[in-house]
Amino acid sequence: MRNDIERVLIDEAVIEKRLDSMAREIERDFPEETLLVIILLKGALVFAADLLRRVSGPLEIECLNVASYHGGTESSGKVDFLDRQFPEVRGRQVLLLDDILDTGRTLHAVERRLKEEGALAVRTGVLLAKEKQRAEEVQADYIGFGIGDEFVVGYGLDYNGKYRNLPYVGVLKLSAAV
Ligand code: 5GP
Ligand code: MG
Repeated sequence: MRNDIERVLIDEAVIEKRLDSMAREIERDFPEETLLVIILLKGALVFAADLLRRVSGPLEIECLNVASYHGGTESSGKVDFLDRQFPEVRGRQVLLLDDILDTGRTLHAVERRLKEEGALAVRTGVLLAKEKQRAEEVQADYIGFGIGDEFVVGYGLDYNGKYRNLPYVGVLKLSAAV
């Protein structure tokens, strides 16, 4: 797999250090409440697992399957909710975690749904945010790293289902993106 990577953008040690400080930010912002953390699968799985083990306050975890990318490296523009049942969020303080903020459509659509379902407050956290013009007006409350507008893999992020288990974030070689 390493042979498919053009360059490492953010290495493991740097990610881990940043997760420590993100966890402190979250603890500071939610000192009392039992947080309901919603992890967007599958991309945010690795990030969320590493981040949440650093948070000492009480929390519960739910997962949501949404599809915004249907393979390839381009966003489809439509967000589908794939789960048969939506988690019970009424009256809860929700922390929504995704791998990356790109066009903003995913976070925007999920945040809106959470509010429709009665969540008291919704905050959002992402490992990565692309510094670009977004299709939807949305900002994440917690951002691991800002990156340029290029397609990245690793640390949960995939290309056609692969590379999620790379311990760093990197840019694919053109020859690997077939
Ligand atoms: P948005 O809805 O903000 O356009 O995109 C969010 C989703 O698109 C992410 O959850 C992720 O699955 C996918 N995505 C956006 N940019 C990238 C990228 O650079 N690499 C990978 N692997 N997925 C991306
Ligand atoms: Mg994805």
